[in-house]
Amino acid sequence: MSKVLVTGGAGFIGSHLCEALLQRGDQVFVIDDLSTGRIENIAHLQDNKHFHLTIGSILDLSRLEPLIRRADVIFHLAAVVGVQKIIDAPVETIETNILGSHNVLSQAARYGKLCLVASTSEVYGKSKKVPFTEDDDAVYGPTNKSRWSYACSKAIDEFLALAYCNAQGLPVIIARLFNTTGPRQTGRYGMVLPRFVDQALRSEPITVFGNGHQTRCFADVSDVVRALLTLMEHPKAIGQVFNIGNPQEISIYQLAKLVKRLADSDSEIRMIPYDEAYQPGFEDMERRVPSIEKIFRLVGYRPRLKLREIISHMIESRRGELVTTEALPVTAALQSQSLRAGVVE
Ligand code: UDP
Repeated sequence: MSKVLVTGGAGFIGSHLCEALLQRGDQVFVIDDLSTGRIENIAHLQDNKHFHLTIGSILDLSRLEPLIRRADVIFHLAAVVGVQKIIDAPVETIETNILGSHNVLSQAARYGKLCLVASTSEVYGKSKKVPFTEDDDAVYGPTNKSRWSYACSKAIDEFLALAYCNAQGLPVIIARLFNTTGPRQTGRYGMVLPRFVDQALRSEPITVFGNGHQTRCFADVSDVVRALLTLMEHPKAIGQVFNIGNPQEISIYQLAKLVKRLADSDSEIRMIPYDEAYQPGFEDMERRVPSIEKIFRLVGYRPRLKLREIISHMIESRRGELVTTEALPVTAALQSQSLRAGVVE
């Protein structure tokens, strides 16, 4: 039995990771400030005597240091996530991601603890060379477009992790996660799939931002967790960066149509210009597709769930919750005006 620290363990991915760790018999320690993480995500784990929750920030070294000292290994997932959250809280995004990761990595290096850092496909920025492979160049926009602060902050985390690895021998693994989705994911901070599913189930307009031609690839959280656990077990993963995702690509407009069909919904599909959905000058990525050849070559990893199954599972799991949840918040810009965009269907 290992002692595993999961930073951000009350978040969507973190909570699924904790479940898997407990199932295989580990002692699980979580630190989470419940900023985007939620107690409800881990409520079902709290009676487990191997599950230990610390509510606190990774910015607070007095809380973090003893947890790292006592852990055998660390999954560092705590971060500010979600495009909407990043636009709404730019200072918190940069500080939590960079200073928080610095705390985790410096303490992990101090005690020589194996640490997996959850990074993101955002670090590729708006590169047009798809699929993205781990050694590809990152392409960012200007500093006055706050979206890029997230990409840069996570890139700094990666630089720092690799620097600790190379200069101080920290055993570190970097996992770049591409659009992960599944049960318990909230649509509050962006996250298109739970938003579309909730909109479809409520017969509300399904809001496609931009022209809907932009593409994404969605991986189920169960596949992502399996990849994280497998990488952590492999000594040759240390010091390396891995994409984790599902290469099945779909445009956001097609995604809206598919969700509508699978949910048997009568929602209209409504196109919303980016400027209204986010903020003036917002830049989106046109295509985002992972190459997963590297992780396949090292550990034989391939995702199991296909997009249709992922969507169907999400529809099932959210149907029951619908009555109790509050209405989806639209973005700040949308709150202040009526939806004036054109109706496509
Ligand atoms: N998106 C959308 N409608 C929504 C939420 C998001 O069309 O209600 C789009 C968003 O503009 C982006 C894609 O869906 O092109 C994926 O957005 P998400 O925030 O889930 O993740 P991203 O890949 O942008 O980090």
